[in-house]
Amino acid sequence: MNIQRPKPIRLQKLEAILPRINPTHPKYAEMEKELAQRIRGYIGEKQVDYHLETLSHKAIILPGVNLQNNGRNFEMDHFLATPHAVYIIDTKNFVGTITFDTVYKQLIRDDGEKETGYRYPVTQVQTQKLKLQQWLHRHGLQDVPIHCFIAVSEPSTIIKVKGDDSSIKNIVAHGEYIPHMILEKERQLQHSSQRFIPHKKLTQLIINHNKEPDVDILNRFDIKSQDIRPGVRCPHCDWLGMERIFNNWQCPKCKVTSQYAHKAALRDFFLLIQPWITNKIGRYWLGVSSKSVITRLFKQEKFIYNSNRQIWTQQRRGGSLC
Ligand SMILES: [Zn+2]
Repeated sequence: MNIQRPKPIRLQKLEAILPRINPTHPKYAEMEKELAQRIRGYIGEKQVDYHLETLSHKAIILPGVNLQNNGRNFEMDHFLATPHAVYIIDTKNFVGTITFDTVYKQLIRDDGEKETGYRYPVTQVQTQKLKLQQWLHRHGLQDVPIHCFIAVSEPSTIIKVKGDDSSIKNIVAHGEYIPHMILEKERQLQHSSQRFIPHKKLTQLIINHNKEPDVDILNRFDIKSQDIRPGVRCPHCDWLGMERIFNNWQCPKCKVTSQYAHKAALRDFFLLIQPWITNKIGRYWLGVSSKSVITRLFKQEKFIYNSNRQIWTQQRRGGSLC
């Protein structure tokens, strides 16, 4: 089984917005830096997914779960459920040497040039466990055993411990080794108790409540909607402003043609601007003067037309265990 990890909304939005913003915008460098960090984070999580796939015959695996506890979102990078327990795994993407200081509860990263302190991942993952426990309790599932691990995604990262070594080695490992730790825990649980948890029902409940919070990226980076440049982007050279010629898009710069380049532009629109579009806005956004071309493209995309409001929206997609 391949774990299909969706790209986080915040990452999608950053990818969509940067090519549409003038590089002289005061927040451009900050956005670029965050985008690079989030791409690294996403790749690291996918690397850990790859290792966890070896457990797919034993566990139900969910990538990137977001739940709400007391009105606040909490996120788990990886969630696994077996008939014996639930596992949450937090992925860390540090390179160089990382030291877990168990006395002062801090993480120190040494990249070879300087030392930097970070939030203590053990406390972070224990807080996630507590929140999940409370969440399950509120949904009528008491006493579900929850175990947590920290996966270091980069195989070359050196892990060191200052203080109590054993408390770290039981929960922290390189991604590749995490499945072995889970299997070992499963063996212990199988021997210690015969009690089973309703892991399928529990996972379905989580799928039903899993909702990634939306982020208002324009507000966060102080971007006005008029700062965002419209247009269809060339898939070959990234030029913004492909032209509609007959039934194709053509790049005025590199002359490449594409039949489907508008799809990405429309995806950007819904991500960045608003969840609905009119024919007039569509013409502005895609740089097309013909009303009927826009109607045809919206129909091809299977957008839903609301004749009262004269707006088009995307179809909703749901998620299920089966
Ligand atoms: Zn081009």
